[in-house]
Amino acid sequence: MHAFIYRIFFGICLSTTIAGTSSAQADRIWLVKDGQAAVDVYAGAAEWVAAEKLVDRIESWTGVKLTLFGTTTKPAARESMSRLLIGTADSTIIIDQLIGKNNSYVELNDQGYFLRATSDPGQVVIAGKTSVGTTYGIGELLNYRLEVEKANVWCEPFEAVEQPALPYRWFWLSTTLTHWDARHGGPHMADESERNIGRHPDGEPISPGGYPGQFKGPDAYRDTYEAMIDWMSEHKLNGAMIFGLLQSYNEGVEAVRKMAHHGRMNGVDIIAGVGTMGYWGTYYGGITDLNLDTLLKLRPDLYIANDKGAKFLCSSMPEVQSYWRSSARWIARAVPELAGLYLENSDLVSCQCERCTEARALEENDTGCYWDMMASCLPYVEEGQAVHPDWKIVYATYTSFSPEGLKRGTDHQQPRFPEQFPPSAICQWTVTGMNESNWPEGLQAPTAHSVGLLHSPSIWGAADGEDRWWAVPGSAHDDASRRVRFLCQRMASSGFEGLIVKGVVSNHSPGPLLTYLALGEFSFHPQRSMAEWETKRLSRLFGGQEQAATYLRLARDTSRDLAERRRMVAEAGAVAGEPTLSPRALPYWQDLQQELRYRIRLLEAIEAGKQSKEPG
Ligand SMILES: [Zn+2]
Repeated sequence: MHAFIYRIFFGICLSTTIAGTSSAQADRIWLVKDGQAAVDVYAGAAEWVAAEKLVDRIESWTGVKLTLFGTTTKPAARESMSRLLIGTADSTIIIDQLIGKNNSYVELNDQGYFLRATSDPGQVVIAGKTSVGTTYGIGELLNYRLEVEKANVWCEPFEAVEQPALPYRWFWLSTTLTHWDARHGGPHMADESERNIGRHPDGEPISPGGYPGQFKGPDAYRDTYEAMIDWMSEHKLNGAMIFGLLQSYNEGVEAVRKMAHHGRMNGVDIIAGVGTMGYWGTYYGGITDLNLDTLLKLRPDLYIANDKGAKFLCSSMPEVQSYWRSSARWIARAVPELAGLYLENSDLVSCQCERCTEARALEENDTGCYWDMMASCLPYVEEGQAVHPDWKIVYATYTSFSPEGLKRGTDHQQPRFPEQFPPSAICQWTVTGMNESNWPEGLQAPTAHSVGLLHSPSIWGAADGEDRWWAVPGSAHDDASRRVRFLCQRMASSGFEGLIVKGVVSNHSPGPLLTYLALGEFSFHPQRSMAEWETKRLSRLFGGQEQAATYLRLARDTSRDLAERRRMVAEAGAVAGEPTLSPRALPYWQDLQQELRYRIRLLEAIEAGKQSKEPG
């Protein structure tokens, strides 16, 4: 049984402006007015960390620090102050009294929240169904419901009840490429260093600065993942599956336990990527038998080579099966703060030994690589959930579930593996190539719990649009928001529980930023249109409707004209320099300006490369 029980239906949105659209200034609920605090914050103990973050965020915009109360009684000395109440019906008596019996609150799922702002009494309520839901409600208020000026923060009366249609809104990361904290380098540091310095003669990237996710030591490792977790949490994204999580470079287990704990405190599940037949195993980059590079040296007899000479663990060997089981028990006990495991057996690989070939020939088994996937992942599912029954254990098929996709893993029309895994295991299908033509409405995956992986934004993806030359390498800096919207919409109506996008590039790169924001938006509201998102929601973040339109035009422009591109930098700079621009919007414009400058350097490098290749 899953720890989270979800009724999968479209995210509900009962959002009303109580006082109508032309409400007078008198109706406003002020959090900060004329540079002075106008609201006190009351938070439940379980929501305290999230409340502290709200206080910090408002201070970063206005310089005003709101007072945080741990009790719910309003002191006489604070009579003139409005109240901002943060909690759940369970954690906070006053929230229970106010909305504990309200049907729209009662019927919310575990990640839903109820927001209500009234001017008489002056009060804002952020009530999650659980503490995690409260965290998402805070993100919604901060990013989309407040008006933010340099000396004023306020909203008009409103009520909103929202919950996700997709309970899993995750990132897939490889720690080798991860960099989220700007203090350790901007989003293009490795793209740039490689271009300026080149590659090793064997084609390996040099990356002298290295990535904070791996090469810069324990502080950078912690900082980059904490920055990622904090950003995800504020934008309603709730999990990260990380390959290379456990590694000796960064204090190993202890660092991961702290990081996974930080995730738990902020509603972001940290899930360890584990390779079964290949892909490094349970422990990445260490000298231990939990690492497959080491194991190959210690126990070459457990490996079978394929026709290209690559070596993989063989699922038919009883010793390999018990190795996987003990590895699973080890990680489950070593890092109990994890929320689960993400299993890959190595892209579409099939062991060609006699025993594995015989097993695939049996009627009850899949005939191709789906069998190897099942045989190598099942030990981890069973042992992991034996220690942690609530762990989410995800396994990757590497294929889509269209009839053509299924043929890559089995000759049977109905794959056998969905019956062979426990029903609680979560199957990850690749949805990167799926679109309106090969994912007709109503086509469902053959697995009880299904999530989809989109290979953007990443070095392995392809840009969504012609001539997006700036998205390189691959689609690492692409804006995949249009695809995210399609996938969320189709998934929510066909039994899927989540969408996973690649997440190694930070929010400071505008393409990935838009991709991640779209995941937060359309997983809650799959029925919304791109136009609604861009005009009604992004306008809040980017400083107004006109500014949002300008931002998107500049971020998506594919012009290769250098003069035109210099003009774009100046245009972004002009918006960033507007004295009336909201402090909430300013960082987005600063990042966009950086990105547009980077694109000029990239374009010059591309043009120089072309010229050097021309016959002289
Ligand atoms: Zn074999």
